[in-house]
Amino acid sequence: MATQRITDFLATRRPEGPCLIVDLDVVRDNFHGFRKALPDSAIFYAVKANPAPEILSLLASLGSNFDCASVAEVEMALAAGASADRISYGNTIKKERDIARAHGLGVSLFAVDCVEEVEKVARAAPGARVFCRVLTDGAGAEWPLSRKFGCVPVMAIDVLEAAHRLGLVATGVSFHVGSQQTNTEAWDGALADAAFVFQTLAERGIFLTLVNMGGGFPTRYLKDVPTAEAYGRSIFDALRRHFGNHLPETIIEPGRGMVGDAGVIKAEVVLVSRKSATDENRWVYLDIGKFGGLAETMDEAIRYPIVTGRDDDQKEPCILAGPTCDSADVLYEKMPYPLPITLTVGDEVLIKGTGAYTTTYASVAFNGIEPLRAYII
Ligand SMILES: *Cc1c(COP(=O)(O)O)cnc(C)c1O
Repeated sequence: MATQRITDFLATRRPEGPCLIVDLDVVRDNFHGFRKALPDSAIFYAVKANPAPEILSLLASLGSNFDCASVAEVEMALAAGASADRISYGNTIKKERDIARAHGLGVSLFAVDCVEEVEKVARAAPGARVFCRVLTDGAGAEWPLSRKFGCVPVMAIDVLEAAHRLGLVATGVSFHVGSQQTNTEAWDGALADAAFVFQTLAERGIFLTLVNMGGGFPTRYLKDVPTAEAYGRSIFDALRRHFGNHLPETIIEPGRGMVGDAGVIKAEVVLVSRKSATDENRWVYLDIGKFGGLAETMDEAIRYPIVTGRDDDQKEPCILAGPTCDSADVLYEKMPYPLPITLTVGDEVLIKGTGAYTTTYASVAFNGIEPLRAYII
């Protein structure tokens, strides 16, 4: 994870302050890994995971498509060299004028999860293709995306029928099994739901063609995760099980799995202290916290591997916190984090697996701290 290129960059450039370094070679390897694991699925990189222009340009040059959450992300994907037919507007919650702007830029593939959203798309992007997102339970995911997006499969039938009636192309079904999904079987239930929607609509003369299987592919944090091949096999088996010989066109939208392990954050210990002479746990304060880009430590959901220069020394659990004057800025407290007892002020720490969902979550100037800087190498 701290690749040789990242190690060399840190040693020679010695950047000041907390920063993220992303190794594009790892992103390239991940892209090829997905392509090999699911050779028949088109890859739509979820731009929100890390929209750095260098990452988008690399992926565009490798043939990736892009799943965008907003018009700004559509513009970033276009600027990176993707044509509009390689872009999907995957957010189910869109202003009608943003649908119109995306459509004006040439985008013609939109996510919906209710009739109201279909009506917006029909007005603002007449004739466009839409896919309907169905709910999943998110079981097995460390960062679930359930409840807020999608509708139940029987409602998806009505939504897609409405799209058809309003002159849109009812193209298929999408779902997201939850981010950092560690169960390779998690796609099975959602694919069964998708097949049910396909079949019911076919009986009504509407023939869907596309299943968007979303993201969810994990990054290795502290625990091992299954390989892309293992996910590919399980997903392909589930497709066969539910669609038989009439396999639909499929796409995947990896975000975390594409860039998570490509990045390392360099940070620094600002203070090590205890709250009383008998306090069991040390408090270790870093120069980065929840507001500096580590928002996914919310509820201690994502537990990043942390490397120090003293890892051969004895370790004891400590409460790890960020530098801001906000008591919510604590990274790990319910489950204290083991760090070397010799760790001291000024020590550098490397926080691994931080290529996804970090820079864009950093606040603009909370406590006067600048947003997380990124070096894409
Ligand atoms: C966030 C998101 C993704 C990416 O999810 P990961 O778990 O990071 O792979 C894919 N599709 C949609 C619609 C998303 O909102």
